[in-house]
Amino acid sequence: MCGVFGAFSPDGKKVLEDVYLGLYALQHRGQEAAGVAWTKSEGGISSRKGTGLVHLALDQAVLAAIESPCAVGHVRYSTTGGSEITNAQPLTASTSKCPLAVAHNGNLTNAQGLKLLLQNRGAIFHSTTDTEVILHLIAHQPHKQPLDALLDSLVRLRGAYSLAMIVGDRLVAARDPWGFRPLVLGRRDNITYVSSETCALDLVGASVVREVEPGEVVIVGKDGVDSLRLPVEPKRRFGCAFEFVYFARPDSVISGRSVYAVRKELGKRLAKRAACPGASLVTGMPDSGTIASLGYAEESGVPYEQSVVRNRYVGRTFIEPTNRVRHLGVRIKLNPITEVIKGKNVVVVDDSIVRGTTCERMISMIKTCGANQVHVRISSPPVRFPCYYGIDTPTRVELAAARMNLRQLEQEVGADSLAYITEEDLLEAIGLPEQSVCTACFSGEYMEGGEEYEPQL
Ligand code: SF4
Repeated sequence: MCGVFGAFSPDGKKVLEDVYLGLYALQHRGQEAAGVAWTKSEGGISSRKGTGLVHLALDQAVLAAIESPCAVGHVRYSTTGGSEITNAQPLTASTSKCPLAVAHNGNLTNAQGLKLLLQNRGAIFHSTTDTEVILHLIAHQPHKQPLDALLDSLVRLRGAYSLAMIVGDRLVAARDPWGFRPLVLGRRDNITYVSSETCALDLVGASVVREVEPGEVVIVGKDGVDSLRLPVEPKRRFGCAFEFVYFARPDSVISGRSVYAVRKELGKRLAKRAACPGASLVTGMPDSGTIASLGYAEESGVPYEQSVVRNRYVGRTFIEPTNRVRHLGVRIKLNPITEVIKGKNVVVVDDSIVRGTTCERMISMIKTCGANQVHVRISSPPVRFPCYYGIDTPTRVELAAARMNLRQLEQEVGADSLAYITEEDLLEAIGLPEQSVCTACFSGEYMEGGEEYEPQL
C-alpha cells in the first residue's frame, strides 16, 4: 500500500510537523517504516527514517523544530523489496541536476527491465525497492533542467505511481496516467499539501483543493503552483476498487466518493443479493467489515451487534512471534463475545477472503463460543488474481478463491453459507465510470501493455 504526504510554504514557514501529522493520519497505509525528507536552508536535502509505526520511527519534537518550508514523507508497507531500512522512503539523491527526494505509493510493472538497463549504464542500486528506478532514471536523463528530466523519466514508467517528491527546492506531486492510487492536493493558509488521502488533510486543518489528475505533474514552488501533463494517453483509467473496499480510511473521499458511503452501499447490495433467512444478528469483522455490516443490517432489517472485539494495540512491534503467540493466532487480535453469539445464527460480514486462514479461524472461534450457525458475507467479489499495482497480495496458487469454487471454499472455512457481491454491484456502489476503475484482482483484466511494454531509457 504505502502512503505519501508533502507540504510547501512559499512564505518559509516550517512544515515538518505537518508532514509528521499527515503520516500519522496515513498510518493505516503502512506500518513497516516511516520517513521524511526536507530541504535544508543551506541547500540540499536531509532525511530521517525508521522502522515501525510513525511515532516510533520519527521524533515529532525534533521534526517540529526543523526550519524547512518544503518536505515530503512516506509510510511503508512492503510490496517490492524487503522490510529492511534501506527500503524505507523517501529515497534521496544528490544528482548533477539537483537534490531529489521521492516518496512513492504504487508498484512499477516495468521496474525490473528499467533497472537492468540502468545497471548496464553503470547505475548502482542501494535498495531493492522499485522506487529507486525513478531516482536513477532522472539522474540519467541528458536534460540539464531537472523538471524536463523528471517528465522524461515518468513517461518511461508503467504501472502505479502516486509520488510526493522534492525536486531542487520545489514540491512535486505526480500520478501515473492510469490513476491507480489516490493523490490529492490541499491548502491551508498559503501552504500547499499533497496527500494519499483526504483524511490526512483534515488532520492538518487543510481543505481539499482537488485530486492530482491521472497523468498530471503538479509543481509547487515560490512562484506558485504549476501543472503539466504527461504525454501518455491510456485507453482507460484504473482507479483501484480495493481502496474503496478496504485500504483507504472510511473518512476519506476518493474521486468525489465518500469511502464510508461506498462501503455501506456495498453492505446493502450484499444484503439484497445474499439474504440470510433466519439470521439473529449481523456482525462485522473489525474493522474491515464493520461499515459494510451496518449496511447489511440496515437493508436486511436484521439487528447489528458488535460481537467480535479487536485489540487496537496489536502490532508486530508490540508482540514477539513466539510459538505460544503463533498458537494463539487470530485470537490475539480478535475475540468474540460469547454472550452475544451463543445460540444465535450469526451473519459475519468481511471485506474479502485472501488466503482464507483468518476467515476459517474466525468462524471456528465464533462456533466455539456457541453460535448456532455462521453465515459469511463478503463485500467484494472473489479475489482470484494477484495485484501488480501496489498491493501485497499473494500469488494465484495461494489465493483461496482461485484454488476453490464457492462451495469448496464454504466448506474449507467452515461457514454454513458463503456469498460475495458481484463485480457489477461493486462498480455500481463505487459509482464511477466502469472504464475508470481497476478490478483486475477480481477479473484478471490488467492494464493494456503493462507487462509487454519494452522498457527504454
Ligand atoms: S488489482 Fe485489485 S488491488 Fe490491485 S489496483 Fe487493481 S483493484 Fe486495486
